[in-house]
Amino acid sequence: MSQTARIIDGKAIAAALRAEVALRVRALQASTDRVPGLAVILVGEDSASAAYVRSKTRACQEAGIASRQLTLPETVAQSDLLHRIAELNGDPAIHGILIQLPLPMHLDERAILEAVAPEKDVDGFTFASIGRLVENRAGFVPCTPAGILELLDREKVEIAGKHAVVVGRSEIVGKPVAFLLLHRHATVTLCHSRTADLAAETRRADILVAAAGRPRLITADMVKPGAVVIDVGINRVAGKLIGDVDFEPVARVASVLTPVPGGVGPMTVAMLLKNTLHAFERSLH
Ligand code: NAD
Repeated sequence: MSQTARIIDGKAIAAALRAEVALRVRALQASTDRVPGLAVILVGEDSASAAYVRSKTRACQEAGIASRQLTLPETVAQSDLLHRIAELNGDPAIHGILIQLPLPMHLDERAILEAVAPEKDVDGFTFASIGRLVENRAGFVPCTPAGILELLDREKVEIAGKHAVVVGRSEIVGKPVAFLLLHRHATVTLCHSRTADLAAETRRADILVAAAGRPRLITADMVKPGAVVIDVGINRVAGKLIGDVDFEPVARVASVLTPVPGGVGPMTVAMLLKNTLHAFERSLH
């Protein structure tokens, strides 16, 4: 059987979104003589984290957003880190603050995330942002889940009334995307590692979001014919990046599918720029 699914080009959609942000930044710069500023805090020298931070700062530059990177030693004291965050909270040139996770074990991650001023929480990880998301009030939404909704919208996928199944219940992907789909009137099932019969759940999905971090967990027999399948997984297997979805076989069953790489991944950085722009716009009022 040949491939039937339409493959979503996340790279192209993210590029379009980044260009839209850049245009708006230029317009605001012309009218206010100011630009949005993003501070990225990196603790330690984890190479994957450093690469993520580089791609975020590069994307900022391209969009005309001023980025400031603070690299702190692995051994930084919690009080020092909190002090740096407090300085950034009070800095009028900084509109967004991002703390690259994971943090070293000796740091209290929750206390550090909570130190970010809610109006600068462009990653959407503070309790204030989470509460707003749960209550469906305007606020910052974590970038990967926000990027997934943006992809669905730009691909004109109908959400209301559909059965959405999310595989993975993490704070940064699974739970927030479940709430976003719920607020858009999907009926949502949230699956996880203790779900008794995962295939029985996923087979009922009109929209299936795979965010378990398990290579090729979702096989073709687990997908309802015609389903929209969003693959969030990023797994390195034998030097290659692959998703949580068994791509080729699932492409013969699904109607719409995101690839890995080039699907959800590029949207995450694009949404960070969008969130930073929004933080800046709000600061102007
Ligand atoms: P996590 O490890 O925090 O959470 C994984 C979740 O999947 C858990 O809730 C767990 O219960 C569930 N799970 C694990 N094995 C399962 C199984 N066999 N069946 C059902 N559920 C299972 O991971 P995360 O941070 O949410 O990330 C998930 C994946 O998405 C990872 O591959 C990660 O690299 C990727 N990711 C991608 C982006 C992006 O920008 N594209 C952003 C964040 C995370």
